[in-house]
Amino acid sequence: MTNVRTRFAPSPTGFMHVGNLRTGLFAYLTAKNANGAFILRLEDTDKNREVEGSADHIKECLKLLGITWDEGLDVGGPYAPYQQSERLDIYKAWAQKLIDAGRAYADPYTAEEVQAFREQAQKEKRAFLYRNHRPENPPAWDGTQPLRFKSDPKSYDWHDEVMGDLHSGPEVIDDFILIKSDGYPTYNFAHIVDDAEMQVSHVIRGQEFLSSQPNYMNLYEVLGLTPPIFATMPHILNEQGNKKLGKRDGAKDVLDYVREGYLPETLLSFIATLGWNDGTEQEVFTMNELIEKFSLQRVQRSGARFDEKRLLWMNGQFIRGLTPEDLERRVADFWPDTAAGADTDYKRRVLTLAQDRLKTLADLPILTSYFFEEPEPDVSLITDNKQLAKLESTMRVELLTAARDTLTELTDWSTASIQQALNDLLETTGQKPGILFSLIRIATTWAPFSPQLNDTLELLGKERSLDRLTRAIDYAG
Ligand code: GLU
Repeated sequence: MTNVRTRFAPSPTGFMHVGNLRTGLFAYLTAKNANGAFILRLEDTDKNREVEGSADHIKECLKLLGITWDEGLDVGGPYAPYQQSERLDIYKAWAQKLIDAGRAYADPYTAEEVQAFREQAQKEKRAFLYRNHRPENPPAWDGTQPLRFKSDPKSYDWHDEVMGDLHSGPEVIDDFILIKSDGYPTYNFAHIVDDAEMQVSHVIRGQEFLSSQPNYMNLYEVLGLTPPIFATMPHILNEQGNKKLGKRDGAKDVLDYVREGYLPETLLSFIATLGWNDGTEQEVFTMNELIEKFSLQRVQRSGARFDEKRLLWMNGQFIRGLTPEDLERRVADFWPDTAAGADTDYKRRVLTLAQDRLKTLADLPILTSYFFEEPEPDVSLITDNKQLAKLESTMRVELLTAARDTLTELTDWSTASIQQALNDLLETTGQKPGILFSLIRIATTWAPFSPQLNDTLELLGKERSLDRLTRAIDYAG
């Protein structure tokens, strides 16, 4: 096996979404699985599309998942610099080789002239090919005109680790721009130069580049380069699986998920399993497991469905698995405001109760605020509850009064004796837990969800629990 060297080569043109990050992750895993090197290269040659802060954002997203790079931005390496805008001389030198070999020429046309060629082709119902308009005597290239590749239309067959065996005909090969009139190379040229210089063994990238691949094959050939191994990542589809994931379906900034209370380890497993599996049903992996198990051959060819419900479910699983100390550290920024001055031990106990029900860390306020402040009664919690809606208000008052009286008698305010008292209440009232306990739960928390009733009451304390029952009786009556 050749020395595996993969790269992630994002452009600093905005935020990273799960699709971009998946490409980076799969490139990383491919390298690490083979004890190879992973490179982070910044493709910043399109100055018009550049968004300030993107490079830092990209690095932050990679670090979030635990992806580290052996060479590239910040860390350097034998093929530095790893930022394309700092490599212009290198592209010029390669371009000169092509000019000398008669395989590149200065493009003499104005944008209007090219547009006219295009319209002409359209009128004649044929595909527009730039190579049909190659100038007979191109001017010497002085860097102010675009430099074009003089292509050589032919067929290509190549293998893609994900897409399988691919073929293209000569009709798709054309003279593309190598260096733009602003002096920057195009992606089409720069990535080939850099992948060659940086000894990249595998090119792992999104599907949007597949249609240009025949042109790349042509350029590799003309430059005398052995093409790397290719792996094209399938699209990520929306939840219904019927179109490419858009902003409204979740193609948002990966860091937004963190702000919304998703754990990095959830994102790692979720992104890793977007279009990849290890041949089993396993969905949750550590980075080490992924490194060990990953292979490009198991990346599926068809689009991967982005299932936000699965993401949420996974996050709940991961939260449940955290140690109390770890959970405490992670929720630091998610407590309700009213918890600010609360006692640390009390907060710990609240957190332990909430842990099983947290789907995202951001659920913490809705699940726990009533432990820190007096909740506002909200009758819709009763009237919207299928079982409770049927209760007459007099019945509600009766049950809540019975609960208050029984609990008032309790001298030992422990979870066990509270439970015993609640069980006794079931008997004396002849109610089902689904009705009686839900009613008491709502009356003491006014929250849509809460932990087990006896745990909740115990932590609220006797006085507060009874006060809330009294308030609820007044309110319900
Ligand atoms: N700069 C390209 C992008 O951001 C990278 C494509 C590649 O990996 O070759 O989409």
